[in-house]
Amino acid sequence: MKLTDIGTVKALMGENAFKKQFGQNFLISEAVPRRIAESGAAKGTLEIGPGIGTLTRELCERSEKVVAVEIDTTLLPILDQTLADFQNVKIINQDIMKVDIPTLLAEEFVGFEEIAVCANLPYYITSPVLMKLLESKAPFKSITVMVQKEVAARLSAPAGSETYGALTASVSYYASVKKLFDVPAGCFMPKPKVDSAVVKLSLYEKPPVDCNEATLFKVIRGAFAQRRKTLVNSLSTVISHIPKSTLAEIIVSCGYPATTRGETLDIQALSQIANAIDGYRG
Ligand code: SAM
Repeated sequence: MKLTDIGTVKALMGENAFKKQFGQNFLISEAVPRRIAESGAAKGTLEIGPGIGTLTRELCERSEKVVAVEIDTTLLPILDQTLADFQNVKIINQDIMKVDIPTLLAEEFVGFEEIAVCANLPYYITSPVLMKLLESKAPFKSITVMVQKEVAARLSAPAGSETYGALTASVSYYASVKKLFDVPAGCFMPKPKVDSAVVKLSLYEKPPVDCNEATLFKVIRGAFAQRRKTLVNSLSTVISHIPKSTLAEIIVSCGYPATTRGETLDIQALSQIANAIDGYRG
């Protein structure tokens, strides 16, 4: 059975093929799932949203074990059928946002030295899923995901560029990001309005900066909350225990002008400011 064949997708999904629920866009290109799996599969692979199993089959061929979390109960009998050839896959019928990632890893990947995430993500929850995976501190080697092309650009944007934002800065604390390849909208059924791209996040064993994490993320939240405002003004909304004039002095003492805007600061600069804030004794 060729799962990337439009007729097969329609036959398997029936009237649900075009419902567009749960961000369902199925891959109908043979090369794309193979290339994603080649780039991202590990001995233990966690997939989010297997759909009808197109990428899952490629992952099963390259992993010792695949665990795939799928929210849509109606897909379970289809996956039973399309993955029948593989003994190394387990489907978990859950909302990924409700799954406790470290518990799942402890239950499903005991003894696995190398665990990675590989998925064609549902686009309506791309950022929350990525942040959930990263914040879980689970020992993933990498996270290789298909996302909207615009999100791929945001993830790999340099500081100060138009697309650089809180997501870019937050992700850069956990991982380096590499865009692998573009995927045109025509590779999916139903065809989405936007093009996509595959990105690979390679997780750091230890963070690239040394600072208090809670303060750093407070600074990131503040710095990007009000784009085009000065860092002093936007930071003062989240750092309430330090007077605005002192915040300005702290920023200047770190070597940045008082007029600096948050979106120009990379993770090193943001952590430097977080450390200076933590060093403040009022
Ligand atoms: N992997 C398939 C492919 O590439 O053809 C389908 C990808 S489709 C873009 C996204 C998949 O994620 C769908 O199967 C959808 O049902 C599933 N999904 C959506 N929201 C989810 C959630 N919160 N938790 C788990 N799976 C979800």
